[in-house]
Amino acid sequence: MADNEKVAIVTGAARGIGLEIARELLGMGMTVVAVDLREDLLAKLPAATNAPADKLDTRTLDVTDSAGFTALVDEVAEKHGRLDVLVNNAGITRDGLLLRMEDADWELVLKVNLTSAFLGTRAAARHMIRQRSGSIINLSSYSGLEGNRGQANYASSKAGLLGLTKTTAKELARKGVRCNAVAPGFIQTEMTDVLPQQAKDMALAQIPLKRFGQPADVAKAVAFLASDASNYITGQCISVDGGMHT
Ligand code: NAD
Repeated sequence: MADNEKVAIVTGAARGIGLEIARELLGMGMTVVAVDLREDLLAKLPAATNAPADKLDTRTLDVTDSAGFTALVDEVAEKHGRLDVLVNNAGITRDGLLLRMEDADWELVLKVNLTSAFLGTRAAARHMIRQRSGSIINLSSYSGLEGNRGQANYASSKAGLLGLTKTTAKELARKGVRCNAVAPGFIQTEMTDVLPQQAKDMALAQIPLKRFGQPADVAKAVAFLASDASNYITGQCISVDGGMHT
């Protein structure tokens, strides 16, 4: 399937990195189904992406809703007759030091960041296996590769995504379905805007390229993994972090 005929689902697409991924895939001619909790932001997406009406679909959904996520994936595959790309991008933080971390903050982050990717992958894989092609991309993080103070829940969820990525790649390769991850470092979005200046200064000091990343930097790596240009790549994690993880 040529890239411009592909159908993609992007979760957490209402803002930040997910919005930029939607933009990038639309720019390649793909049909994009943008999924997010935030109905108010999704409503602005047609204007924000300048997408032709028949190329962009928006759906309000909590990706931790197992039945809802599965039904959405099935509906998209049925409506468009195929499903080529799933980007599991929706994610949250609930930072706190390990000894003070509440059970609820551990569980919520694992559920939103990791369990949702499992739910989406399982649902999408059924369609991709049938068509014997597809690309699943999980948004991991530098924190998942290296750990990070104050992020036991987040780092564990992002490390878990790497296990899910590699296992999915191994199980589905023989069916023509690929699965890869992207691990951003410090990217300027609303997720990181809320951090105290001191934390930002400390992060910047650790980045060899000496600047924060932009959502487009991550979106371009995701677009590569979604495209036929990466057809021989599966089970990998591409770091987009200014050189932090080597
Ligand atoms: P963001 O907070 O700006 O955007 C996340 C989007 O996900 C929001 O639109 C939000 O409404 C949506 N979302 C949250 N929970 C959801 C749910 N249960 N169901 C549906 N949608 C939900 O974050 P971002 O910075 O754009 O990050 C995007 C992804 O990249 C996340 O997985 C994040 O962990 C990862 N990441 C970000 C950075 C960074 O520096 N910004 C670094 C590494 C990894």
